[in-house]
Amino acid sequence: MDKKQIAGHDLAPGRIVKDHIHVDGTTIHVPHTIISGERPGPVLLVTAGIHNAEFVGIQAAIELSAEIDPGRLSGTLIIVPLANRSGFENRTMSLVHEDGKNLNRVFPGNENGTEADRLAHVLFNAFIRHADAYIDLHCGDGFEELMPYVYYVGDSDCEDAAAEMASCVNTEYYVRSRCKTEGAYNTASMSGIPSILIERGQLSQFPREEIDADKADVINIMKLLGMLDGDHKEYDKTRLVEYELFSPASGCWYPELHAGDRFTSGQLLGTIRDYFGEDIEEIRATEDGIIIHQCASLNIVKDGPMISYGVFV
Ligand SMILES: [Zn+2]
Repeated sequence: MDKKQIAGHDLAPGRIVKDHIHVDGTTIHVPHTIISGERPGPVLLVTAGIHNAEFVGIQAAIELSAEIDPGRLSGTLIIVPLANRSGFENRTMSLVHEDGKNLNRVFPGNENGTEADRLAHVLFNAFIRHADAYIDLHCGDGFEELMPYVYYVGDSDCEDAAAEMASCVNTEYYVRSRCKTEGAYNTASMSGIPSILIERGQLSQFPREEIDADKADVINIMKLLGMLDGDHKEYDKTRLVEYELFSPASGCWYPELHAGDRFTSGQLLGTIRDYFGEDIEEIRATEDGIIIHQCASLNIVKDGPMISYGVFV
């Protein structure tokens, strides 16, 4: 693989490229920054905004793209700060505006598909496949409460390297994911690229301390990879196995707990009511666990996300 050219750009030591790449057959353009270090080293890809209403990662990626000095960098840093730009500009809640698809369910994409498929195809082929390591930044969407944690894919050939990257993320929890398809970092992992997904921030807010924490994680991983000078830090973590609950009905949602709260089997987690205030269904825990992220909006959608919880192992 020729790493001297990425997304059509000739790379040279010390050069910074800021550009957009066009997605064929659509009106979508993807912003990206490529920072080529003065010294050789690995290619690290950082993406944000695959879910366009997850703002902490987007702002962290924008700031990193302006702050990393190629004179202090070994290797190449590719930053895609806003993968789903049309969703951002049309204020969708993290779906691709043109076709309504969840971009993180269509990787590695399809150049003959609809807009999201074509966008994923470009992201995968122009950026992901060139990476030696990959960090995807996510957060809680506008309707989602979330506690910070990190994912890597279990049982991939690069699991150990991904786990090492995850250990450099300053969160209390991690999930060793069983999902090997559809998502950007999942597909990358199964293509042999050590990849992690960081979840930090919630409800489409973007507090300064969370942006700074995302940036610190990326810089810490760059030290691990030898791309920046200095010692990296590792953070002890508790492993969670994640389970997702989808809503049995549309209606009004009244959660009992918050992200990060622990619960025991049988405990009431929330109630779905109709538009006259009558109960449709009570949601109770079937085992002990912790709320990882959950719907925090009044409206809840049948078969849509309700609660994602973790079980301690
Ligand atoms: Zn997301």
